[in-house]
Amino acid sequence: MENSRYCPSLFNYQRFRTREVMIGNVGFGGDNPIRLQSMTTTDTMDTEGTIAQSIRMIEAGCELVRITAPSKNEAENLANIKAGLREKGYSAPIVADIHFTPNAAEIAAGIVEKVRVNPGNYADKKKFEEIEYTDETYIAELARIRERFTPLVLLCKQNKTAMRIGTNHGSLSDRILSRYGDTPLGMVESAMEFLRICRDHDFHDIVISMKASNAQVMVQAYRLLVNHMMQEGMNYPLHLGVTEAGDGEDGRIKSAVGIGTLLEDGLGDTIRVSLTEAPEAEIPVARMLAERYEKRTGHAVIAEVPTSVNPFEYTRRNSATVLNIGGKNVPRVIMDFSHREEITAASLFAVGCNYSVPLDKWNLTDIACDFIYCGSNKIDFEIPGTLGLIFDRPQWEQHVQKDRCYPIVGIHELTSLPQSDVVFVHASLQDLTEQHIEELKKYNHLVLVLTTSHEHGMAEQRAAFFTLMNAGCETPVIVWRSYNGLNEDRFMLYSATDLGALFIDGLGDGIFLSAPEIPMQRVNSTAFGILQATRTRISKTEYISCPSCGRTLFDLQETTAKIRARTSHLKGVKIGIMGCIVNGPGEMADADYGYVGTGPGKITLYKEKNVVKKNVAEEHAVEELISLIKEHGDWVEMG
Ligand code: SF4
Repeated sequence: MENSRYCPSLFNYQRFRTREVMIGNVGFGGDNPIRLQSMTTTDTMDTEGTIAQSIRMIEAGCELVRITAPSKNEAENLANIKAGLREKGYSAPIVADIHFTPNAAEIAAGIVEKVRVNPGNYADKKKFEEIEYTDETYIAELARIRERFTPLVLLCKQNKTAMRIGTNHGSLSDRILSRYGDTPLGMVESAMEFLRICRDHDFHDIVISMKASNAQVMVQAYRLLVNHMMQEGMNYPLHLGVTEAGDGEDGRIKSAVGIGTLLEDGLGDTIRVSLTEAPEAEIPVARMLAERYEKRTGHAVIAEVPTSVNPFEYTRRNSATVLNIGGKNVPRVIMDFSHREEITAASLFAVGCNYSVPLDKWNLTDIACDFIYCGSNKIDFEIPGTLGLIFDRPQWEQHVQKDRCYPIVGIHELTSLPQSDVVFVHASLQDLTEQHIEELKKYNHLVLVLTTSHEHGMAEQRAAFFTLMNAGCETPVIVWRSYNGLNEDRFMLYSATDLGALFIDGLGDGIFLSAPEIPMQRVNSTAFGILQATRTRISKTEYISCPSCGRTLFDLQETTAKIRARTSHLKGVKIGIMGCIVNGPGEMADADYGYVGTGPGKITLYKEKNVVKKNVAEEHAVEELISLIKEHGDWVEMG
């Protein structure tokens, strides 16, 4: 699809060439490395606290420090913070984070190296109002924004202060929503309006972001932005981030799915990983994501494959149903036990299958895997009723019990297939010759396990999917990846990137992760985490919690942990936990329930976008949230 171009190549890694923007003494975009950044969580009026936290961030490797400036006072205090940092010998540039207050932005533009504005709430309205705009009123409103935004552009130009135009999915203006809805296109148009004003004033020290807490929306919005920039001859550097990603494993996987997917295609000049953790904890995660691409250029060439996949919209590849795989089934998870010396009933505990000896019964969790790959191991116990077993062919042939046991063979064995209801066939892109694809098409009991050992493995597997699609082959495909020599964090981030980038485009009917050095429980939860983050299989509660900043009104980490402890069994329910009422309700976008700080010790609870309980005392707020979930019928007792 020619007009759907959004990166230099879908197959051969190459960074999208952006113009260089200097922020203080640090270059962004162009030939500069991917820069790492984070945001303080202290009160901006607490000068010493903010300086101390900024230093911790800088020492962790943060190259750009963002500080919130909600009003004129905080904007003015940035001068003291900056002076304190420079006095102590830290030269990292500072960004003022602005929402709603042009005055604060104009002050900050004279102090710090960069200001961040959100087109959704800078001089535009965000009152969740549904207003019908005629062409005339829409144009009049745009003219008003131009008038209000121009002074900041001119100030930045005069002071050589850079600007981030940072659009957020959850805080699009009522005007944009009225015309484009809550869509990636609305996000892009919102930024393009501001970009055009900057361009008219010949101001180009701009970085752009398109954040969302939904990784799918986020990826589509960045791709669409680059596509539009290419059409208008622009190439501003990209700041990547998934907003309100949450904490721990979920936060890391969601960030990797969003940020990693774009990095794989060469998009992104700076990264902020938003975790509900200390800001300095975000930097190593951002670094791990970025450093994978330092040597990616120049890999073995992958031949380009034409495609009709629309990168701006989610459509799942058509596949046939084999067993419970492919078709309309949720993607399946295969766990690799082939490297184990033996497999016992107790081994399955780590993959969500718990055997109770007194009850003589299997109890499956929401993240119980669907198949296990046994390799040449034997299984001599009764397996859970929903589990399938995959064996290497010789072991399968010896196995007496064949019920729910399937062989896996190489694609060259297609001409002498074992007599089984279902056969798993492993192959890589190189194996997908015309002849092999024709063989695959002939049988309706095959499941393809797509392997790769290419350095740019995601792209090679993408090429394999496109090859199958172009040949009209609907054999269901399990995406297999193997990871060795990685620690747990790297394993989570890299597998989420490699598989997330495919699932986000509807490519894949299952995940098969092989990582013998990583605890089995982690491998299993990562596989389900990737499917959750790509929204292809929901198996747990989703938390959309903000990373906190100087506006935060309660301890986000502690509160998130408290809410998680009570609600983590509510599969599919999305709970927003936001530090302030100014941005929180907008940022939590598609949450089912919201827990938002409204004042010191006061929480407001939301059902979707509507306030339902105002100013609840913080000590009762979690209980009130639970009551609210019960009232709306989303509560189930813990099993
Ligand atoms: S929602 Fe959270 S991160 Fe965003 S401005 Fe409010 S407190 Fe800060």
